[in-house]
Amino acid sequence: MEDKTKKYILPETEMPTSWYNINPDLPKPLAPPINPQTGKPFILDELTALFAPSLIEQEVSMKNYIDIPKDLLDIYRLWRPTPLVRAERLEQMLDTPAKIFFKNESVSPAGSHKPNTAMAQAYYNKKDGTGRLTTETGAGQWGCALCLAGNFIGIDVTVYMVRVSYDQKPYRKIMMRMYGGKVHASPSNLTDAGRAMLAQDPNSPGSLGLAISEAVEEAVKSGGEAKYSLGSVLNHVILHQTIVGLETKKQFEKLGITPDVLIACVGGGSNFGGFTFPFIPDKLKGKNIRMIAVEPSSCPTLTKGKYVFDYGDTAKMAPIVQMYTLGHDFMPPSIHAGGLRYHGMSPQVSMLYHEGLIEAAAYPQNACFEAAMMFAKAEGIIPAPESSHAIRCAIDEALKCKKTGEKKVIAFNLSGHGHFDMTAYELFMDGKLKDYEYPEEMIEKSLEKIPKVNI
Ligand SMILES: *Cc1c(COP(=O)(O)O)cnc(C)c1O
Repeated sequence: MEDKTKKYILPETEMPTSWYNINPDLPKPLAPPINPQTGKPFILDELTALFAPSLIEQEVSMKNYIDIPKDLLDIYRLWRPTPLVRAERLEQMLDTPAKIFFKNESVSPAGSHKPNTAMAQAYYNKKDGTGRLTTETGAGQWGCALCLAGNFIGIDVTVYMVRVSYDQKPYRKIMMRMYGGKVHASPSNLTDAGRAMLAQDPNSPGSLGLAISEAVEEAVKSGGEAKYSLGSVLNHVILHQTIVGLETKKQFEKLGITPDVLIACVGGGSNFGGFTFPFIPDKLKGKNIRMIAVEPSSCPTLTKGKYVFDYGDTAKMAPIVQMYTLGHDFMPPSIHAGGLRYHGMSPQVSMLYHEGLIEAAAYPQNACFEAAMMFAKAEGIIPAPESSHAIRCAIDEALKCKKTGEKKVIAFNLSGHGHFDMTAYELFMDGKLKDYEYPEEMIEKSLEKIPKVNI
């Protein structure tokens, strides 16, 4: 018999029952991912060594909407739909005629948007018979999300955590262990890629690119037992994240409001894509809606990178894709928004930027922490340093409205909370947080090493 209590607990919900796939709506087809070993487009068998078949199918799917399985909907209901909040107190603080809204993804159990795809990836891997997942994590958000998902769905998880975050954020690694995950600092001496980096620089702070190499290497060498799982960048990851934007759309519709500006931070592009892509069909039909991707000026992939083919990781094991990149061996400065320290960008986000459908902005970390402090004081929520980039941009857009008198509706995605980032906030309040120069020479040097691809 159906359990009626669920109906009493669950409010009438805006939660969508399918994801939005932008592939068929892109201005051009995406270039195929290239196998770094062969230099040729991947064939299916090569991809299934890394990813579950169901996820590869989603990666290249040309269906506009893909149903969310019922078991997954039941898990999503633990924290979804997430609230769309009017930041009235922030508006008052800024004395702006603009309306500011934020979509609060920080209310998930892991504290960010990441469980939206972690649950889906664990679900499809389990369904396809994967025994274990390997992955990387920057700030620890993705690692926590996947460990939680592995725990819910019943699949083991091994995480390579970027060294600098492993040291700066010990609590994230404890959280991953609580959910049953195994965590190694990257570079580690467990893989060829890790050992090579340690030989070059024993004090290497690590990078997402390198941690990806380690996780990919472990999956490839497992002989089929383990698969690799990526927390951003790929099409299927953004597909799962579109639940954020679809909900936001419904919530705005209920309010009878259409947003003028949508803002989100970008590391690999998944919370930005998830938040904004469901609005792209409206934009293509001529609706005037701006979308701004915000990145750190110390890792300025969209604003200073090149749109070329490049490796997804440092050790050249991950697929080569066409994207904005700073070069696969670019080591971004150790800023506190660890989740934004990635040299590349989602191919879908990259194409939309290249085609002029979305905009990008870059900010140094002190300006973002200042915005985060204002937001915390006004709304009470302590944002993740990553999300503070979106907040900075939203505040600046609202301040522009103050000058012009425009009553724009500005919405940003609060991708996560910053409860594990207190050390960074303390450094900021004590005036000890460094802004890094735009690492132009490092980027130029790294961009010399992009692969030559003829397809
Ligand atoms: C991982 C992370 C990001 C950056 O990743 P995207 O894939 O670009 O969204 C942003 N905010 C938070 C809180 C994160 O955990």
